[in-house]
Amino acid sequence: MHIAIVDPSRVVQQKLAAELEAAGCYVDCFSASDLVLQYVEATRTVDVILTSLELEPIPGLELCWKLRTLAGETRPLHIIVMSSNTSERALAEALDCGADDFVVKPVRREELMARLRAANRMITLQRQLVEQAETDYLTGVLNRRAFLSTMEAKRRELDASESLSVCLMDIDRFKSVNDTYGHDVGDVVITAVARIAGEEAPIVARLGGEEFALAFPVLAPEEAAHWCEVIRAAIATHVFQSGTDTFGITCSFGVADWTLGEPLGTALKRADRALMVAKTNGRNRVEVTPSTVLAA
Ligand code: GH3
Ligand code: MG
Ligand code: MG
Repeated sequence: MHIAIVDPSRVVQQKLAAELEAAGCYVDCFSASDLVLQYVEATRTVDVILTSLELEPIPGLELCWKLRTLAGETRPLHIIVMSSNTSERALAEALDCGADDFVVKPVRREELMARLRAANRMITLQRQLVEQAETDYLTGVLNRRAFLSTMEAKRRELDASESLSVCLMDIDRFKSVNDTYGHDVGDVVITAVARIAGEEAPIVARLGGEEFALAFPVLAPEEAAHWCEVIRAAIATHVFQSGTDTFGITCSFGVADWTLGEPLGTALKRADRALMVAKTNGRNRVEVTPSTVLAA
């Protein structure tokens, strides 16, 4: 576990850090609450905060609240408050401000270790839940919801001058695969297509059925189309098996640029139009919509 300790006393920090490090934890110590807040925001690996309430410049309870807000719904962050004030009111206040647990100061090693084991169970469970909520159950790639949040995060990460291309990919005449070989073989095909796409595309999501979204950070649409072409060829030459039968499938691709300032949905609409063009132009092909062509 990666633990951040925040306490005004260096003696307390050092004692706790020594005990936690001996137990195999990775520990960072802070005296100032604004610094720990900045550190936790920037360092995603921190999963436990062990905090005193007597802090400056941000008071301990306020720090708990800010940490809870920062963690949001998807980042597991376990906040343990340390206080010598053992009143029910103090405990309730800490929990109401976003803390998960409370230990009495001076902190006893045995109790702290037991509470950290409980924290570890919670964190592991939360991680599993978040992963399940973001993963497509069949293929293991991102689901639609996770694709949207991943894209928004990627756009924030990139400079304004950097491109971010999106692509919609759809398996051609997939209904006939299901009709000929059955739904289970159809599922195998969908899974293989996701895997092959993931070999070239940095971001792959299954939007539903046999439709995928790919994204290529930093690449202009024409460059992204090159990689889609590589994926298209790899899928088109892949040999599938059903009993003694072998068969092949193809995919169509529509690529568009996600222009800075526009909603992602607008870029996806353009990609969808390009995909429709690929379908009507014979399938098994990649089409690009330049960003200057506005979505209808
Ligand atoms: P097109 O080339 O125009 O895309 O034709 P298509 O047959 O691929 O398109 P259509 O949308 O008519 O059919 C999609 C099929 O995908 C219909 C549906 O039964 C099947 N499908 C949707 N989700 C799943 C799934 O999770 N597993 C399997 N095996 N089939 C699915
Ligand atoms: Mg299809
Ligand atoms: Mg489809």
